[in-house]
Amino acid sequence: MECSLTARDRVGIQDFVLLDAYTSETAFIDNLRKRFNENLIYTYIGTLLVSVNPYKELGIYTKKQMDIYMGVNFFELPPHIFALADNVYRTMISETNNHFILISGESGAGKTEASKKVLQFYAGSCPSTRLLEGVRDRLLLSNPVLEAFGNAKTLKNDNSSRFGKYMDIQFDHQGAAVGGHILSYLLEKSRVVHQNHGERNFHIFYQLVEGGEDELLRWLGLERNCQNYRYLIQGECAKVSSINDKSDWKTVQKALTIIEFSEKDIEHLFAIIASVLHLGNVPFVANAMSYATINSSVEIHWLSKLLGIPSNMLLEGLTHRKIEAKSEEVLSPFTVEHAKYARNALAKAIYGRTFSWLVNKINESLVNKDSTRKTVIGLLDIYGFEVFDVNSFEQFCINYCNEKLQQLFIELTLKSEQEEYEMEGIEWEAVPYFNNKIICDLVEEKHRGIISVLDEECLRPGEATDFTFLEKLEGKMSGHPHFLTHKLADQKTRKTLGRGDFRLLHYAGEVTYSVVGFLDKNNDLLYRNIKEVIRQSKNTIIQHCFPAIEPDGKKRPETVATQFKTSLAGLTEILMSKEPWYIRCLKPNLCKQPGLFDDVMVRHQVKYLGLMEHLRVRRAGFAYRRRYEVFLKRYKALCPDTWPHWKGTPAEGVQRLIKHLGYKPDEYKMGRTKIFIRHPRTLFATEDAFEVC
Ligand code: ADP
Ligand code: MG
Repeated sequence: MECSLTARDRVGIQDFVLLDAYTSETAFIDNLRKRFNENLIYTYIGTLLVSVNPYKELGIYTKKQMDIYMGVNFFELPPHIFALADNVYRTMISETNNHFILISGESGAGKTEASKKVLQFYAGSCPSTRLLEGVRDRLLLSNPVLEAFGNAKTLKNDNSSRFGKYMDIQFDHQGAAVGGHILSYLLEKSRVVHQNHGERNFHIFYQLVEGGEDELLRWLGLERNCQNYRYLIQGECAKVSSINDKSDWKTVQKALTIIEFSEKDIEHLFAIIASVLHLGNVPFVANAMSYATINSSVEIHWLSKLLGIPSNMLLEGLTHRKIEAKSEEVLSPFTVEHAKYARNALAKAIYGRTFSWLVNKINESLVNKDSTRKTVIGLLDIYGFEVFDVNSFEQFCINYCNEKLQQLFIELTLKSEQEEYEMEGIEWEAVPYFNNKIICDLVEEKHRGIISVLDEECLRPGEATDFTFLEKLEGKMSGHPHFLTHKLADQKTRKTLGRGDFRLLHYAGEVTYSVVGFLDKNNDLLYRNIKEVIRQSKNTIIQHCFPAIEPDGKKRPETVATQFKTSLAGLTEILMSKEPWYIRCLKPNLCKQPGLFDDVMVRHQVKYLGLMEHLRVRRAGFAYRRRYEVFLKRYKALCPDTWPHWKGTPAEGVQRLIKHLGYKPDEYKMGRTKIFIRHPRTLFATEDAFEVC
């Protein structure tokens, strides 16, 4: 235990609730830094786990470590992600209810690694039978597959998840992992056709080109050189020192087989990946009338072969669109620019839909066929708050998602505290906190929010532009305390805003968004005739992804922002019905280096992750609560009346015990089933006395 004073000085305090200067952000950061320097990356705030990315292997995730943490009381060992995982698991078993672990933090803070450790813990520690080992392996192996297709190198993280992921792990009544289900959120499709400098496309493309067997590449018409593919080199960093595409390819291959993808599935999947690369290279040239044409092209040959679509149909679809003129359909030729735009839209649609197919396929392999009642632990690993030099529609969606999760955090933390006090018959002192509902409303409110205004503009093709969208926003949002534009700003602030920008004051800080591309990305338009062409494909995955009737059956598909809003509302509902646990990941520096702890950076994250607020909530009420039996069992040796056996009720035993220890009346309250201790100091003293004895 880290309890003796000298040890506490050196390694800090393992639970912030025990920090004397608990309102001081500086003391908070000092404690984190102290621990970080000792390679202690985990610290608690009550049951919330704070994790700081060490950027080095610490050797703390071994099977031996798992065994140490299995079945041990939360506060009896140094903080660890396994302790949290174990605590969630045991609570689920003993209370037969559902839980979720929300993992948050900015890009590169360690969310995905944390979610993998939790999964690894369950796979390694839960009871299992030979039959269930298959499920366990598939649960674990879904990760490398989804990462290959959904992660990419960005400036912030060499393995950045470009989609949100919620995974349910299902357990039977004996506590064995028997199945799972994955929901994915808003894949950043724009990456397929464009990458900023220093970033890459999704890993799978490079894995295929670098690692694919000669014969496979020949069959796909690919050359073993990433430089030959336009979609792979826009960030000018196809090779990354921290990534081994070749060996990752092998891992993914193996995983696909174990997840029970058939040979045909795998063949068709890679035919699609290769097709996207060929699409990116299609050479458009302007003819005498300035219209786009494709002269004899090897790319069309390969596309036709791999997708099973006649070349002439592809040629027509990539250079024309069908428009309705007076009850008649006519083909209207594209300019080169327009053709490239339509081609990119097709590449994005193919990749995005294939990704959804992949998630479905994995889900099929994780289905638990047994219909007996199960309990679940959900793991949420979703993109963190993002601020770049230029922020676009993608950041707008990601940051909106974070507002929603913050809202959930506020509701659930305060709500559960209040409920517990109420249930136990204890008075509650409310803590003031900033409620970000006002920002959620600004974004999502029906008829009035930013998404509504955006959707309205998307309904006026030909008339509306990104700038008319901005004007409408200015009209509607003028005077809103969290919204600003160049026109609405005062003289001083105006200088910091471009004419095509709007700024949102998020709970986590200001972000300036450039409206350029908002309408287009929200519409995510794929021309009808190219859809019809692609539908002819013999590739079964493509057939599945582009059905003759779109699933929602609507004439006009929902916009991207509205779809996202709906799926986030669904997610909120899923989470609200479960018990929450939190892992807050912090990024200690921008250079992805071990041993560097940047105070300013950490302070900012502590602020916007709401850690001080959470600590205050924990402290304002009662820092600790323990069931009478548990409290008595642990400390009964401290009082001759309760040692070795107490004959009365546990509540009476606790009463006798704390009287003997000299607890003052304002230091604690007796609830119906638990003792509530106001100051951690009180418990700490008891703990010290216990250590001595
Ligand atoms: P996020 O999902 O939050 O964007 P990741 O989980 O992908 O971030 O972490 C980024 C990188 O940081 C990882 O690839 C790994 O190198 C390092 N990292 C994160 N967590 C740990 C950890 N617990 N131990 C060692 N390295 C870690
Ligand atoms: Mg991630």
